[in-house]
Amino acid sequence: MAYDCDLFVIGAGSAGVRAARFAAGYGARVVIAEDRDLGGTCVNLGCVPKKMLVYGASYADDFAQAPSYGWNIAGQGGAPVFDWRTLRGNKDREIARLNTLYESLLLNAGARLIRGRARLLDAHSVEVDGERIRAAHILIATGGAPLRPALPGIEHAIVSDDVFHLPALPRRAVVVGGGYIAVELASVFRGLGVETTQIYRGELFLRGFDDGLRGHLRDQLRLKGLDLRFQTDLERIERRGDGSLRVHLKDGRGAIDTDCVLMATGRGPKLDGIGLGNTAVRRDARGYVEVDEHYRTAEPSIHATGDVIGRAQLTPVALAEGMAVARWLFRREDYVPVDYDLVPTAVFSLPNIGTVGLSEAKARARGHALRIFESRFKPLKLTLTESRETTFLKLVVDADSDRVLGAHMVGPDAGEVIQGLAVALKAGATKKIFDQTLGIHPTTAEEFVTMRTPRDGG
Ligand code: NDP
Repeated sequence: MAYDCDLFVIGAGSAGVRAARFAAGYGARVVIAEDRDLGGTCVNLGCVPKKMLVYGASYADDFAQAPSYGWNIAGQGGAPVFDWRTLRGNKDREIARLNTLYESLLLNAGARLIRGRARLLDAHSVEVDGERIRAAHILIATGGAPLRPALPGIEHAIVSDDVFHLPALPRRAVVVGGGYIAVELASVFRGLGVETTQIYRGELFLRGFDDGLRGHLRDQLRLKGLDLRFQTDLERIERRGDGSLRVHLKDGRGAIDTDCVLMATGRGPKLDGIGLGNTAVRRDARGYVEVDEHYRTAEPSIHATGDVIGRAQLTPVALAEGMAVARWLFRREDYVPVDYDLVPTAVFSLPNIGTVGLSEAKARARGHALRIFESRFKPLKLTLTESRETTFLKLVVDADSDRVLGAHMVGPDAGEVIQGLAVALKAGATKKIFDQTLGIHPTTAEEFVTMRTPRDGG
């Protein structure tokens, strides 16, 4: 059977670009189709621009603390003023640069890039802009998109995609949800000076994270003036005569007047119009593409990776999955399965969360007897200031083997600190190894190797 290419990739985000580049590098004839900007969610509507907004928001604390270090901001012409259009414009320029970079990466690797929307015609054929291409293998890497729950007035709400292109910053905002995106964007809004309320339907946000982290972050965010309301859900959104919005809450909890409602209530796979029905590809109960351990769908010639399969929806995971598919198909001797154990992650709230391994609750549920080490302290940088913010570190240690099962942190640069510790946990480090490691003084991270007394003395 003559094919036009060895691999046709649908979607040039983290997973698709990685698979396409590596497959082309292994000598495969690769075609990749994308109908939006190259780089997918991470580059355009997620990790990268989000981190830029987080950096922008973090200056609020720096300005507030600077006078304690002798900096007289007022003496330089008045209080600092934030200009959204400057940040948005500079961010857009950098993202455009990254889009171009992604294009060169693909072209330099020898892949053919088609700017258009691809649709599956059968197990081996794809149609893009009227062109029919036959491929030995097809990879679905179309990613995900924000979900909008069905409720009256939902058309007045925005989702995370819209935040990156807001014409102006609202004066007031209500952020709905308690996951990564809600927590991060509520911090961004608050840091940029928006009067922000975050509502979450459950008892405490960031379900699944260590309870110590969740509680500590809640307290720090409240200190920063974020109006956090738990066990609160919205019933409907009303547009008022003056253009503002009124959020009506369920269970007689009243209403909140605001200028912007951001729904950050989860994401789903992007599969509309892709033609799955023309193939044997199956979706799981949540709607994600069902794959086996080699990312093969129920249609043997079609694979799927990244957010569209709904595992850990994180860029490094998508990259690793894309690479695994390329190797599995075209360089099997180098194939290494993706290890989903001990995936470190950060939530870029202000302050950040960084975490790797088991939460205390999960470790107990798995039957481990535990020793828990915790530390809460005011970081050195804040000691000269009036800030009441504190940092929180926690180690979850298996009492029998002494192995460190989880390392968790709330505080500045928590992601940077935990990335290093992830290597230690991956290597199977015990608490004794942590104890034998010398600290770097004075840092926050050194506390991870100097905690000696278990909580509860246990
Ligand atoms: P999450 O699944 O993390 O969170 C969704 C939140 O919305 C939960 O708090 C959920 O509540 C709540 N929710 C769901 N449906 C409703 C509803 N109908 N009404 C009210 N609340 C609702 O999704 P996100 O969109 O925040 O993030 C998606 C994924 O993207 C993350 O899981 C993560 O993998 C990735 N991501 C990673 C980032 C990072 O690495 N820093 C940053 C951003 C995203 P409940 O808990 O009760 O179910």
